[in-house]
Amino acid sequence: MTDRYAVFGNPLGHSKSPLIHARFAAECGEDLTYEKIEAAEGGFAGALARFIDEGGKGCNVTAPFKLEAFGLATDHTEASRCAGATNTLRFESGRILAENTDGAGLLRDIEVNLGLGIGGRRVLMLGAGGAARGAILPFLQAEPEELALLNRTVSKAERLCEDMKGFGDIHVIAPAEAKGFDIVINATSASLSGDCPALPETVFQHCQLAYELAYGKGLTPFLKRARDCGVSQLADGVGMLVEQAAIAFEFWRGKRPTTGGLIEELTVGEDVRRDI
Ligand code: NDP
Repeated sequence: MTDRYAVFGNPLGHSKSPLIHARFAAECGEDLTYEKIEAAEGGFAGALARFIDEGGKGCNVTAPFKLEAFGLATDHTEASRCAGATNTLRFESGRILAENTDGAGLLRDIEVNLGLGIGGRRVLMLGAGGAARGAILPFLQAEPEELALLNRTVSKAERLCEDMKGFGDIHVIAPAEAKGFDIVINATSASLSGDCPALPETVFQHCQLAYELAYGKGLTPFLKRARDCGVSQLADGVGMLVEQAAIAFEFWRGKRPTTGGLIEELTVGEDVRRDI
């Protein structure tokens, strides 16, 4: 019997997940469907319950329902607990298992696809929202020399560091201290409104990789600035998108699909993912 999966969110018009999971299923020979379910505000819990009643096996969850989904889950992986949010659910014997694959997807894109190990490197994460929070645990587990957080609202970054303090060393820095990092990751949503987070001139000194979590936008102001400062490697979040989906697919089906072809196909703008 064909198994049913879905992505829940609102809006979902832009979602690439159905395409990605259809490709994964074809490659791995898995008999499944994957649909978009755009739940209304206040309607997520009901829509999820209906999907489970109808025999759904699992789902992805995107904005604005990642926190609510976390609350509805009966069991949580460590990555999901640390993030306080979930993007992947699996339904099993009346239970709802929550995973968070965003951070591991980002890490895998950087380490495996872009070939830059986090271990022993100095990493600067810009932003302290859901995406940054999800990335902290896998990044700490990869043992960077330093993991620093810089956010427009300092108190939010401080709270995030406080929450993560049992998992490793992560600290908040002031803009003036943003220099000498090997990897600078833009986990803010500034690019979605065509902005660049406020950054000092020094931020890209010695930087080997500037990574933008937003995707499908070509060279964002953050990536343009990194390019103009001579950063040797640029990437947007399309690799993270495909890798988090591959990890979710494995969480559901126990098989890991390949990702390289899809990342290439979904990359918008030839300058976005490149070595200079
Ligand atoms: P949140 O809304 O949870 O957090 C937004 C963060 O961005 C906050 O830290 C906020 O700072 C900061 N911010 C927003 N605007 C600005 C600005 N103009 N200047 C400086 N800082 C700003 O968003 P998410 O964490 O969910 O998403 C962040 C980004 O990651 C988005 O671009 C999203 O599309 C992308 N993303 C990509 C994924 C992928 O698979 N590639 C997966 C998930 C997210 P403050 O605290 O001061 O408000």
